[in-house]
Amino acid sequence: MAAADVERLIRQLAKLPGLGPRSARRVALHMIQQKETVMRPLAEALAETAESVGVCSQCGNIDTTDPCEICTDPRRDVTSICVVEQVGDLWALERASAFRGRYHVLGGVLSALDGITPEDLNIENLIPRAASGAVSEIILATNATVDGQTTAHYLTERLEGCNVAITRLARGVPVGGELDYLDDGTLITALASRKEL
Ligand code: ZN
Repeated sequence: MAAADVERLIRQLAKLPGLGPRSARRVALHMIQQKETVMRPLAEALAETAESVGVCSQCGNIDTTDPCEICTDPRRDVTSICVVEQVGDLWALERASAFRGRYHVLGGVLSALDGITPEDLNIENLIPRAASGAVSEIILATNATVDGQTTAHYLTERLEGCNVAITRLARGVPVGGELDYLDDGTLITALASRKEL
């Protein structure tokens, strides 16, 4: 039986996504054994980030400044906004250096099953941003799931009258992908969204 403080640490770790009680124990033990090189720097990073991090009031990104660095970067294209479900999606696009405009993070998707309604998402802020006159394109980069598509459809209706082009990500054969391994849905949409060369 671990000491009370260690038990508390394990309970907190077990709340993290992807960590159950078993892996939480393993992580806790690893940290304790690497106290100076792992545990203390992690504790400092956690304490500092907990103080400084917040949500950007313009786009919903998380950063230590509000508005966030992306919203205030003058080198970024102000005419296009890429709408994503989660901050993780924004990070993925940034990692790939795929997009040089600005973002809008919804904080989830509409879901009848989970009872997520438009009021639960960061949608009301998007309409005035889209209608500001500075923006010419809204890219709907929600996931290719049923809920992601439902949300994109809803946003398309809400953005009507904002005088912006509304686009969405292409779907089809992944880079390096082989046709033989694709599921039927991917093959069908890839064929339907073929482009002339
Ligand atoms: Zn921002």
